[in-house]
Formats: sequence, structure tokens, C-alpha cells
Amino acid sequence: MKQATMEKPGNIRFEDVAETPPGEGEVRIRVQQIGICGSDIHVWHGTHPFTPYPVIQGHEFMGVVDAIGPCVENAPAIGTKVTALPQIVCGHCNPCKKGRFNICENLKVRGFQANGCGREYYNIPAERLVVLPDDFSADQGAFVEPVSVAVHSCNRAGDLKGRNVVVLGAGTIGNLIAQLAKARGAAKVLITDIADYRLDVARQCGVDYAINTSRESLKDATTAAFGDGGFDLAFEAAGVEASLASAIKCIEKGGMVLIVGVYGKPPVVDMGVVGEHEIVLAGSMMYWREDWEEAVKLLASSISIAPLVSKHFAFAEWPDAYRFIDKNGASTMKVMVDVQG
Ligand SMILES: [Zn+2]
Ligand SMILES: [Zn+2]
Repeated sequence: MKQATMEKPGNIRFEDVAETPPGEGEVRIRVQQIGICGSDIHVWHGTHPFTPYPVIQGHEFMGVVDAIGPCVENAPAIGTKVTALPQIVCGHCNPCKKGRFNICENLKVRGFQANGCGREYYNIPAERLVVLPDDFSADQGAFVEPVSVAVHSCNRAGDLKGRNVVVLGAGTIGNLIAQLAKARGAAKVLITDIADYRLDVARQCGVDYAINTSRESLKDATTAAFGDGGFDLAFEAAGVEASLASAIKCIEKGGMVLIVGVYGKPPVVDMGVVGEHEIVLAGSMMYWREDWEEAVKLLASSISIAPLVSKHFAFAEWPDAYRFIDKNGASTMKVMVDVQG
């Protein structure tokens, strides 16, 4: 089988290796398609702080069950479409004991601190599998992971019904959070970015207001959109200090700002305002299995992904996919790698 190993930043080696039979408790998946995510690009550039090399990347994928190892209970039938959670957790640290596996003290993520799915056949513990509907496209399957990120962050925010919501950053995750907020009954959803392309995609996905904050301030935009109603929930999905600072400044007193973005360097924010306005700052990190199960349902019903898929590359062109993203950053969303030609 073909396997793609990132030897060092900017260098992927493709090689033929023997496929191994699935071990005890494992299932072998024939990988069909992999989605590229922002953190993958950091690994390509050598700017991901927690990824040693060499590494086999890939954590957003769709494949089919190809072989079942010994001691697997309730195994899905051969040929079943599946994806899988990439987390490896210890099960005995304090967060794990409380069921919060996503923030395990010893968390490893496949594609980063462990090998991912960048190969034709991928062995993975059966308990990590998430079964997909028969009629799912490879795009839908590869989107379960990013949609789960959106599900988890919306769950952290509580009931969204009737609330005005701001999402800062209209990349894939911000877009999906905005769509999900609508699906969960938010009154009005306003999304911001500095790239018109991403804002157009958000409009195509039915987001109420898409604002370019390089031309209009968040304050003016939210006053125009929400009037006296204001907004009491913001998702910072840009990973940009200025957008976090503007959310803290403009949100209603007592509101909640959820941190979903990843920051290159620690952002500086006015904690005095956080204190005086009783603002709740909360984090959101990856997801739980329940989030994946809901993501599958959402992809089958209310979340549109077609406007988000920018381009497909063949498996052997994976490095070209990264170059394409580098060149077209502001006018690209999700890029896919087709492992099966
Ligand atoms: Zn991802
Ligand atoms: Zn743990």
C-alpha cells in the first residue's frame, strides 16, 4: 500500500509498505478521502508546537471497513462507511475520570503525536469507529471531524435558542459554528472575517450577516444587525488577538466569549473589562464521541458543506495541496486529498 510520511516540514515521502493485518480489538479501514485542516498546515510549515517528525498526517477522513481483527465485538460489516475519532487518551487522569477525555492530561492525537490516516489502509481500535450512513459522500465523511468541533463548542455555550450570536472568523470551523447556531434556534447570527471570499461562502450557507471587519467595526456591525437586542454570545474562531479584544469590548455585560481559535502567540486582552462586565471566558477543545454522533446527524440534515469544499487533490499530490492553500489562503476553505484515485 501507499503511505505518506512527513519526514520533516515541507517534505512528504511516499512509499510502498506492506499492509498489516488488524491487531486485537482493531479494524482495518481502506481510507478513501482525507480533509486538510489548519493544524495540518502548521505541521507542514514546522510551526505546530506539539508535533515531532516523522509523522503520518491525517485525522479528518472517510473510509470503509476492510478487515476485522480478533476480539472485536459488534464489528460493522466489511464495506461499511466509517470515520474515527483521532484521540488517544489515558483513561486514568483527573479529566478522564470525570469523562472529559478531550482534555486528557496525556492526550495524543493521531496525525500529530501519533500516526494518522495518510495511507491506503489504516488500522485503528474498533472502539474509535463512528459508522456513517450508506449514502454519505466522501466529502460528508471527511467533514464529521470539523463539524464535531463546532458541535462541542456550541454545547459549551448552552442553549442557543433566541440568542443573538457573533462568530469571529469565517474559516471552516467558524462557518460550521454559525450554521449550527442557526440550526439550534439562534435568533440572528453574525459572522466576521477580513476575506470577502469566506464571507460569501457564509452567506451561501445561510448565515444572516457576514461582515468584513477590515471595512466595518464590530461595534457598528452588531449595532446595525441587533439594535438594542445586542448579543451575549461570541465564538472566537479566528485565533486573532484583535478579534478577541473586539468581542470582549462589544459583547453585552454578562455575556460569554468562547475560545475556539488557536493563537500563534498568547493574545493580550483587557481583563479589567472581563471583570467589571462579568464576562465569561470559556475554552473549547476538540470533542467527545457524542459530538461525533450528532455531527453525523447534522451532516445528514441541516449543515451544508458543498460551498466549503474548495478543491480535491490526488494522494500523490498532497504536497501540491499544501502549496495551493499557501497560495490561495484567503480564497480557499476545505481542501481534500483523494487517497483512492
Ligand atoms: Zn481537523
Ligand atoms: Zn487522561
